[in-house]
Amino acid sequence: MAEDFSAIREEVAKLCAQFPGSYWQEKDKARAYPGEFVDALTEAGYLAALIPEDYGGAGLPLSAAAAILEEIQYRGCNGGACHAQMYIMGTLLRHGSDAQKEQYLPKIASGELRLQAFGVTEPTSGTDTLSLKTIAKKDGDSYIVNGQKIWTSRAEHSDLMLLLARTTPRDAVEKRTDGLSVFIVDMREALGNGLSIKPIDTMMNHSTTEVFFDDMRVPAANLIGEEGQGFRYILSGMNAERILIAAECIGDARFFLDKATDYAKERQVFGRPIGQNQGIQFPLAKAYAQMRAAALMVEDALAKYEAGDNAGADANMAKMLAADASWAAGEACIQTFGGFGFAAEYDVERKYRETRLYQVAPISTNLILSYLAEHVLGLPRSY
Ligand SMILES: Cc1cc2nc3c(=O)[nH]c(=O)nc-3n(C[C@H](O)[C@H](O)[C@H](O)COP(=O)(O)OP(=O)(O)OC[C@H]3O[C@@H](n4cnc5c(N)ncnc54)[C@H](O)[C@@H]3O)c2cc1C
Repeated sequence: MAEDFSAIREEVAKLCAQFPGSYWQEKDKARAYPGEFVDALTEAGYLAALIPEDYGGAGLPLSAAAAILEEIQYRGCNGGACHAQMYIMGTLLRHGSDAQKEQYLPKIASGELRLQAFGVTEPTSGTDTLSLKTIAKKDGDSYIVNGQKIWTSRAEHSDLMLLLARTTPRDAVEKRTDGLSVFIVDMREALGNGLSIKPIDTMMNHSTTEVFFDDMRVPAANLIGEEGQGFRYILSGMNAERILIAAECIGDARFFLDKATDYAKERQVFGRPIGQNQGIQFPLAKAYAQMRAAALMVEDALAKYEAGDNAGADANMAKMLAADASWAAGEACIQTFGGFGFAAEYDVERKYRETRLYQVAPISTNLILSYLAEHVLGLPRSY
């Protein structure tokens, strides 16, 4: 039986209680960043859960981070405001030099530096990451970066960005996965010096942006690992990302199910609680079963990841099934609430919009299915 980190969950729940629905409704309305919530999580050390103790973090396993994020979502808050800080530092931790780790990790752990921005997706390449066009060209002891990223979430609320850029033209590499490199960009220095950020309005409050690089200089010392190997470094962190997003979806599903069952017991129509009708009960019962099954898959993926086994298929399945479970629970919840499901004060419509993202990001369902078809079922690659 996996550890469920009940003491951590309890503390996270207490912290979340300071940020009730009204707080999130205001932020949502103003499309404002929940800075107070992120600061509280940082001060309590939760965003440094995965940073080793030697660098000032808590040195906890991925399953603890999953428990923290699941609890945040279950309590009606939104980890999307800061979850990347937990997992993108993994690329630095696993592939950075000792000097880079000394320079950045203690400050990320203390909250002095925020590493919230992850620049991978580009407007013209989309899911096909290997076609990305942003170029970093070596010039003396720095690289000059030109290009554009899209959907770089939290860029306006981060000091550092983990950037994936091409350092060797695509037609000059032997393997298609070569030629991309990862950099730590200090956005405080770069903003106005070749870096500009443009917010994107979205259906939920997600602080996502487009970022533009116009002769932006990055010191060569900020290259992580070896030049040209960046795609592998990024991939190695993606399983952790998918498992943690899956845990968030389980939290969302539990939020919807609690909300819906409480409401269904209370709301009287035709002289009896609506929850007495099987038409209300069955979608909720089905979503509950989906959530429990997906939670087992998350547990399985965590066990594989923590044992150091290849968790690729499990992490992908966990993310897909958990995103489906949260969506099914959201659907059943909004239907249970009837018209009131559309009123902002119940938080159902906000969470419904927020959880929809996870069918698309960080990887869309079709691409997970293609991965399983090819790598697990051995079918021919379809693209
Ligand atoms: C709110 C938000 C926040 C995000 N945050 C970040 C971030 O912080 N950093 C970052 O780098 N990215 C981020 N992303 C980007 C996200 O990872 C991508 O949107 C996602 O990977 C899909 O890429 P795309 O939007 O370019 O879709 P496309 O690649 O254009 O795909 C569009 C549709 O076509 C389907 N499709 C494409 N190719 C195939 C195929 N071969 N077979 C079957 N179906 C296919 C896809 O599944 C999808 O449904 C974010 C996105 C959003 C919306």
